[in-house]
Amino acid sequence: MENLCRETWIEVNLDAIENNLRAIRRHIPKKSKIMAVVKANAYGHGSVEVARHTLENGASELAVASLKEAIVLRKAGITEPILVLGFTSVGCVKEAAVWNVELTAFQADWIKEANRILTKEVMTNQLAIHINVDTGMGRIGVRTKEELLASVEALTTSKFLRWSGIYTHFSTADEPDTRLTRLQHNLFISFLRFLERQGFELPTVHMNNTAAAIAFPEFSADMIRLGIGLYGLYPSTHIKQLKLVKLEPVLSLKTRISYVKNMMTGPPSISYGAAYIAKIGEVIATLPIGYADGYSRALSNRGFVLHRGRRVPVVGRVTMDFLMVSLGDGEGKQGDEVVIYGRQNEAEISVDEVAEMLGTINYEVVSTLSRRIPRLFIKNESNH
Ligand SMILES: *Cc1c(COP(=O)(O)O)cnc(C)c1O
Repeated sequence: MENLCRETWIEVNLDAIENNLRAIRRHIPKKSKIMAVVKANAYGHGSVEVARHTLENGASELAVASLKEAIVLRKAGITEPILVLGFTSVGCVKEAAVWNVELTAFQADWIKEANRILTKEVMTNQLAIHINVDTGMGRIGVRTKEELLASVEALTTSKFLRWSGIYTHFSTADEPDTRLTRLQHNLFISFLRFLERQGFELPTVHMNNTAAAIAFPEFSADMIRLGIGLYGLYPSTHIKQLKLVKLEPVLSLKTRISYVKNMMTGPPSISYGAAYIAKIGEVIATLPIGYADGYSRALSNRGFVLHRGRRVPVVGRVTMDFLMVSLGDGEGKQGDEVVIYGRQNEAEISVDEVAEMLGTINYEVVSTLSRRIPRLFIKNESNH
């Protein structure tokens, strides 16, 4: 690695993103577009670069969680459609229209107010809106046909708004029991049929996240919203075990040893709480990564990292900026590369394994990686 001043970094393999997009593309119907979900800094991978790369490789639109995230992408020069999946305060509609960002709506009053605000502004851009239908996620969305009709009527009669999509979100598409997903799908379809009977022409219809796109490709409709799969991670063990789509992890987290000491001499305790006492002659290495980087403190005295192709344990408490590992009676030097997540020679520490140890999911492990860690983008085996 040429940059010696980078002590801890994330490598993002853009070729793997391409492979994952291709694998999903082959699995879903030809007519279904792919919306790349790049919220939360592209699940920790770096939103601008991931967005650009997915758009060059088969994704046609983007989704984020908030207007702020969308504006970051616009400021970076991205011109493709961007949908905000979260709730946006109606006071922000002008900003959304100025930046040409599509918003999610599900309340007729919000839609009417948005139109009033934009009318006063005499906008040139119409604000594009996707209606969210809550079929069982219980988060946001219209919950009844009456609410749906009121929203659609408000939208289609608003001069400054454009109805560009309608979607729902599955809550259990990653589980072996398919009943709730089928129920949600049927409910959504019945809402769509209801609108058609009322004489409305449907805009872009979408419902599938990664799990549903893999397990229910037939529900892919006009577009899927691809998040975790883009990053080469499976939404659940169940989905992985279906073996329907081969995904390749995109991210590796690496660091370099800051300091090595032999515990033959000096005080034997390691880190806060002295929760680890080294043996005489044990070799302890200090790594410049801590919980402020997104390496969970819950991995204190539990986690493992890779050094010289071998798994070595985290010893003592993980601190904000450092953690210590034991090299046993092995050798190690200041500056040695250490893999926190990813592969080294034949060894691997997967994000899934770490998530399992933490009692959480891979989504959380990657999306909480701190922005202070530089991202290094790798393409055709070269660095960017
Ligand atoms: C985050 C999110 C997605 C992406 O889900 P994955 O499981 O990561 O594919 C899709 N739709 C909505 C509404 C989301 O919030």
